[in-house]
Amino acid sequence: MLNELSYREIYAAVTECKGADFKIQKLKIREPIGDEVLVKIVATGMCHTDLIVRDQYYPVPLPAVLGHEGAGIIEAIGPQVKSLSVGDHVVLSYGYCGSCTHCLSGNLTYCEEAFVRNFGGKDQNGCNAICTHDHVGVNDHFFSQSSFATYAISRENNAVKVCKDVPLEILGPLGCGIQTGAGTVINALNVRPGSSFLTWGAGAVGLSAVLAAKVCGATTIIAVDIVESRLALAKEMGATHVVNSKEQNPIEVIKQITNGGVNFALESTGRPEVISNGVEALGTLGKIAVVGAPRLGVKAEFDVNNLLLNGKTIMGVIEGNCNSKWFIPQLVELYKQGRFPFDKLIKFYSLDDINQAALDSERGITLKPVIRIA
Ligand code: NAD
Repeated sequence: MLNELSYREIYAAVTECKGADFKIQKLKIREPIGDEVLVKIVATGMCHTDLIVRDQYYPVPLPAVLGHEGAGIIEAIGPQVKSLSVGDHVVLSYGYCGSCTHCLSGNLTYCEEAFVRNFGGKDQNGCNAICTHDHVGVNDHFFSQSSFATYAISRENNAVKVCKDVPLEILGPLGCGIQTGAGTVINALNVRPGSSFLTWGAGAVGLSAVLAAKVCGATTIIAVDIVESRLALAKEMGATHVVNSKEQNPIEVIKQITNGGVNFALESTGRPEVISNGVEALGTLGKIAVVGAPRLGVKAEFDVNNLLLNGKTIMGVIEGNCNSKWFIPQLVELYKQGRFPFDKLIKFYSLDDINQAALDSERGITLKPVIRIA
């Protein structure tokens, strides 16, 4: 099958084995079939999830081309594509089937095929779109894209058309990290005007949530982190209070600021002890959305009576419960109006510097690395 299709040459950052540096390799990608689109990647964000998959927290088969916050221009379309054309600017988001019970009920981020489509390393026919020059398949379709590459194969349903008057090179992170933070606040928690909101972790997800909480009219916005520079940026993004949990007891300080406990919270550190603190720091009828991703099997504890007597809610949230085709253009519009300045979180790197981008992200130096490809 691979040999019958026509291919073009690409450069891609390959993760060869657990924890290894990304390695730039010359590979080939096939032309789009069915409802697929071929996208020339202009830039792609790097998300913490790329790094935990590189480190095999999740069992994505390797070697693989990762990258799941791609933005680019459509260069070819499959015969079944109806709503997209060559030349369209697109942001690539997560994959879903569109026909299972969860998709049909509008809950696309909980698609029954989510794991296979985003982490399975192959397309729906069990094939790779990317291969070596000897036609050996390389695991791809990461989040239905694998965008750490000069070209990516995506599908019509996860390529989000965006307007051409905003630079494409900033838009990729809207496909995952930024929509996750903003969508969790807007769609999952439904943060209300005049309420208090808190993010545990002031990384890309947490600070997008801070920006969104401001858009929603929260009047107390708290960011908790252990890195001072991130807390300083949180203030710039609209946090009314910041707490360094290495230096202060966060539960005590939060209860003091909010007069008893916070209304809405987002957990983005992926640390079980922080989830426990997050439940504790909620006020009566408070809600916490757990978004941070630990290793598979990690468990967190909470006081059951504290939860039930106070009517608290703990919810897990994937991709901010966003329907990306509907939500991402809204974020772009908010950005154009100056109400959602997510570009302040970005630092650009070249494809050759992708390992430096990963290092800077892990050391807390760079909040949202974006790899310029074209
Ligand atoms: P990030 O590394 O930029 O942010 C995490 C932040 O948590 C950092 O600022 C770090 O300093 C802080 N932190 C770490 N330990 C802490 C502690 N004990 N107390 C307080 N703060 C602490 O990562 P990100 O890109 O913002 O992603 C956040 C998490 O969300 C990751 O686990 C990522 O895999 C996950 N994620 C989940 C989804 C989803 O759909 N659920 C989507 C995107 C990302």
